[in-house]
Amino acid sequence: MKTFEYITPETIDEALELLGEGAQILAGGTDLLGEMKRGLATPKRLINLKGIQGLADIRSIPDGFLTIGSLATLSHLAEHPLVAQHYPLLIEALQRTASPQIRNIATVGGNLCQRPRCWYYRHSAFPCIRKHGEGCFAMGGQDRYHAIFGGHRCFIVHPSDLAPALMALDAEVRIAHADDSRIVPLTDFFVGPRDSLTQENILTRQEILTAIRIPVPPDNAYGTYLKVSERKATDFALASVAVSIAWLDTQVTHARVVLGGVAPVPWRVKQVEEMLIGDELSGKRIERACERAVDDATPLRHNRYKVALVKGLLRKALHAAHRSREKGEK
Ligand SMILES: Cc1cc2nc3c(=O)[nH]c(=O)nc-3n(C[C@H](O)[C@H](O)[C@H](O)COP(=O)(O)OP(=O)(O)OC[C@H]3O[C@@H](n4cnc5c(N)ncnc54)[C@H](O)[C@@H]3O)c2cc1C
Repeated sequence: MKTFEYITPETIDEALELLGEGAQILAGGTDLLGEMKRGLATPKRLINLKGIQGLADIRSIPDGFLTIGSLATLSHLAEHPLVAQHYPLLIEALQRTASPQIRNIATVGGNLCQRPRCWYYRHSAFPCIRKHGEGCFAMGGQDRYHAIFGGHRCFIVHPSDLAPALMALDAEVRIAHADDSRIVPLTDFFVGPRDSLTQENILTRQEILTAIRIPVPPDNAYGTYLKVSERKATDFALASVAVSIAWLDTQVTHARVVLGGVAPVPWRVKQVEEMLIGDELSGKRIERACERAVDDATPLRHNRYKVALVKGLLRKALHAAHRSREKGEK
């Protein structure tokens, strides 16, 4: 590991002043420290956010949003009574994220900003395009964990379980900058390889993700997060699906469908959302939705199985939604 400066600012303004070339933000460190040990990240200055008061707070505000400080740990979020009350979909995603030990340290902001888990990217022997090298070693190589949607010269998948769940809940992120702080829908936060081959989100070197805001779901909403991984405990998604559906009587009035583990960004399938709205959630419609969800899939040599996984997960999630409506559950 290379030597670096380590600073713990006490305010966001102080942290913003310290940012710039060679500086990097440290939250829980469960991803970044691994990257540093492997020489993938070589910051000259580490800015430890843990000295900033209030950055880990979770609170509801009168206009109906839940605001989650970016430094809140995954465990803290999972145990929060407002999350249990309004966002069971998020609890399901949190319970399937990493291990309890990691969830005690990993933060929500860090989870959204974590780097890819592609084994070529993580291995120092492969100078891939995401490390300013040339080409994608997964193309024509060992590609079974890689993207079936949205790949372009690079076929990483976004590793976060929280991201698809939060996106299905219409979350927004608050980004602090010395002169121009902004709130951005989570759907606009992530960038795929067509926009950048070296970063996975829109943050510049002068910015810090400070909070995530989630609106209260619509009335009669049902949400679920389903994930398939190779191992049951502590494993990243081979594929996952976050679904949020609301009804008026029997008619679907609101639908969000977001896939994880299958694309370089959390993959929102708007064409499925659109076909679900305005009708009943019948078995036939569910089958059509599952087919439509994989319309744009372009599997690589060894990951065609992900197409079947996506269809299976979506089918299960939509049937669960249908059953919950019939039972009048939330
Ligand atoms: C064994 C293992 C299993 C795992 N399994 C899963 C899993 O199943 N599902 C899953 O979703 N994740 C999984 N993870 C990943 C884990 O969830 C992330 O490492 C963690 O959430 C990152 O949060 P952190 O606070 O530790 O971030 P850090 O490691 O501190 O930071 C991660 C990155 O985000 C940047 N960053 C952090 N906070 C901010 C901020 N506020 N603003 C701007 N940039 C920021 C850092 O500079 C760094 O680049 C696993 C990790 C391990 C080690």
